Amino acid sequence: MSIHYNNLNAVSRPLGAPDDVYVDCDGVVVDYLPGIAEFSHKLTGVRPDPKGPSDFQFTDWLGVTSDEEMMNIVRRFNEGEGGHFARLPAMTGVVDVLRAIHASGRGIHVLSSCSRHPKVVEMRCENLVTLCGDIFSSIICIDMHEDKSDYLSRFAPGIWVEDKFENAIKGAQQGHRSFLIRSPHNRKFEKKDARYPFTWVDGWQDLREHIL
Ligand SMILES: [Mg+2]
Repeated sequence: MSIHYNNLNAVSRPLGAPDDVYVDCDGVVVDYLPGIAEFSHKLTGVRPDPKGPSDFQFTDWLGVTSDEEMMNIVRRFNEGEGGHFARLPAMTGVVDVLRAIHASGRGIHVLSSCSRHPKVVEMRCENLVTLCGDIFSSIICIDMHEDKSDYLSRFAPGIWVEDKFENAIKGAQQGHRSFLIRSPHNRKFEKKDARYPFTWVDGWQDLREHIL
């Protein structure tokens, strides 16, 4: 496994090979929301709705009064406080599909905007390899809210899987076959008459037919 986590210039152009699979991490490979909900509840005493956030900005869902407070909770969680971040469970069905992709010889690359902090990167890598095995060609961690477009543009055209609406569009704009996993926070974008440059999927059971 080769890991690039904070040096865009070190990423050769292009990264990966045609038809490789590029995945976001939280909400795609690992189930992030129950962990952050429990952590936030312990800190604030407010229990987030178990149905999940209706927006990618978690401020209302966590029941805090400002975006700064929300970001502080997310940062503390991602940096390992409470110990959950390094042991997040896998999303349903992802391990089998990724292992099948790896067995077929295609590359799998993770692009996560969790943090560039080396400790966070290490936990993220450990978590992924523990869940899926040593199947990743690269794991790239950038800062929260950092734009993924620069990296997506350096990947050879392949398959891009996200749960964040804006990033699914960016993946398509950079020439990838882009898929958006339906989640509570992106449901508001799914209107009958809306046409987007990506395909909506219901998790990995649905996705596997498109990408295996
Ligand atoms: Mg995500």
